[in-house]
Amino acid sequence: MIDILIVGAGPAGMSAAVNSVTRGKTTRIFSNSENYLSRAEKINNYLGFYNITGKELMNRFREHAKAMNIKIEDGKVVNILPMGESFMVNINGKIEEAKKVILAMGSSRVKELNREIDLLGKGISYCATCDGMLYRGKKAIVWDQSKDSAEEANYLNSIGVIVTFISKKPHPENLDKHITYINGTISEIIGNDKVQGVAEKKKNIPADAVFILRDAVAPATLVEGLKINGNFIEVNRNMETSIKGIYAAGDITGKPLQLSKAVGEGLIAAQHAALQIDKVKEN
Ligand SMILES: Cc1cc2nc3c(=O)[nH]c(=O)nc-3n(C[C@H](O)[C@H](O)[C@H](O)COP(=O)(O)OP(=O)(O)OC[C@H]3O[C@@H](n4cnc5c(N)ncnc54)[C@H](O)[C@@H]3O)c2cc1C
Repeated sequence: MIDILIVGAGPAGMSAAVNSVTRGKTTRIFSNSENYLSRAEKINNYLGFYNITGKELMNRFREHAKAMNIKIEDGKVVNILPMGESFMVNINGKIEEAKKVILAMGSSRVKELNREIDLLGKGISYCATCDGMLYRGKKAIVWDQSKDSAEEANYLNSIGVIVTFISKKPHPENLDKHITYINGTISEIIGNDKVQGVAEKKKNIPADAVFILRDAVAPATLVEGLKINGNFIEVNRNMETSIKGIYAAGDITGKPLQLSKAVGEGLIAAQHAALQIDKVKEN
């Protein structure tokens, strides 16, 4: 079992990883997609690095992590299941068990659709590999919101799901020819107790499932019972969330959305998590 599993390899997640390893804890860090900080032209308020570009600073962070044998693993965390003393973390269908989890996913850029959270697990899914088998022989819509959507749609098609692919982008070259492609977007999910379809422009498309494949996952959908305030996860001064053993750090906990805060919170979360693990060992 992993001691500390970190979700997101931005400044908060990497700071958490460095401090977790410093405290002698087995540490894994999973992250998807590029980090937004890399787009910053100049950073002038991060101590010791006056006038540095976002890209350079991210490279420094990565070199630091590498020097400490911290490997950033590619993967989107889609779900976390509390199991009493540990957590089962679903990384695109692959499950890892950890004693503590630190959420460092950055500020949520996800705007959920009306009814999306209510129908989660009742036809709404964020992971084709995890839930695809449930819809063999049934109709599913794949809503393209990330670079891997076509591959995931192809996977669903390959296991016998009848797939409609809805995207604002042009028809992907690698999309299987048996998949229906619609150029558009979803405005609404239809269904009361379970998904019955979606509204696309003015027409309704019937379906048993909707796979919403975004790069980011809204914190509220990641783990049940997590207290959210607006778009941010609620934490105390130890960076503990409302679920014991799950921490949050960085932009995801709220303003100011700034580097120094993210790095500081990553440190606090990792040190507190490590201390709790040590306490259990001592007893
Ligand atoms: C253009 C720009 C300029 C900026 N300039 C400054 C500045 O000058 N000074 C300053 O202090 N701050 C600046 N900032 C803000 C700073 O970049 C952020 O405060 C900081 O990056 C927050 O770090 P974080 O680790 O909390 O989140 P992020 O840096 O957003 O990192 C989160 C990571 O988690 C990953 N992730 C998200 N969801 C999942 C999931 N479900 N599974 C796995 N991985 C996931 C994301 O892909 C991302 O890599 C700037 C930001 C931008 C965009």
